[in-house]
Amino acid sequence: MTTSAALPDHFQPARADQELAFACHPGVSCFTECCRELDLALTPYDVLRLKRRLQLASGQFLDRYVIVEWDEEHVLPTCYLTMVDDGRASCVFVGAQGCSVYDDRPGSCRAYPIGRGAARGGDDSPVESLVLLREPHCRGFAEACRQTVGDYLRGQELEVYNRFNDALLPLVQHPAIRDRSFRPTRRQLDQYMLALYDLDHFRREMTDGRIALRRPLTPAHLAGLAGDDEHLLLLGIRWLSQEWFGE
Ligand code: SF4
Ligand code: SF4
Repeated sequence: MTTSAALPDHFQPARADQELAFACHPGVSCFTECCRELDLALTPYDVLRLKRRLQLASGQFLDRYVIVEWDEEHVLPTCYLTMVDDGRASCVFVGAQGCSVYDDRPGSCRAYPIGRGAARGGDDSPVESLVLLREPHCRGFAEACRQTVGDYLRGQELEVYNRFNDALLPLVQHPAIRDRSFRPTRRQLDQYMLALYDLDHFRREMTDGRIALRRPLTPAHLAGLAGDDEHLLLLGIRWLSQEWFGE
């Protein structure tokens, strides 16, 4: 169990059943303050939702909105949403009316001020951990609205985000990645970006036969190749497990 002493400033451990006095709405004095000066890491499912929302091909979305960072310290790259150079490092999607992609906003935006982590459990089921982020600028804690942390998260419709993020765990928390015996080559880093973030390109590579799954494609995989991005993401995870770990 993580202790509060190990957490950064303003973070506290949280439980789903604990009470949370918090509300956020356009009437709060700090409206959109949390959409500035932040590092917003995007999961593959976040990108899937946003590129579809903006009616962009995944490659166009990555070119316009994503900065990829990778260094020797981290086994896998991190994809950050670009921020606007307005002196406040504002999110590229924030405006006077709030979030312009609200219904498809990233999972971490939905969960705020809760942060959710998940680890690969012994039987591959995810083990969830929660933190509460109490930043001084956030006036939502002064609102007269009480609920449990779990109810708050359910109200943010996070279930589908958690499902697709957790589907990555057997890959990104593979024992060989955890113990750092696996260090991706340049080619493997490109495969990671292709299969998880550049889904439209991945679909073309698969349908044109330039890359292939060694086991028979399931009906769900075929649906992914036919246009279903969610099933394609699961196929991408399966293909990477094959290419990296022979599984
Ligand atoms: S995506 Fe929307 S909610 Fe998230 S930081 Fe940007 S403007 Fe704010
Ligand atoms: S800072 Fe807190 S209360 Fe203000 S808009 Fe963001 S989440 Fe809502």
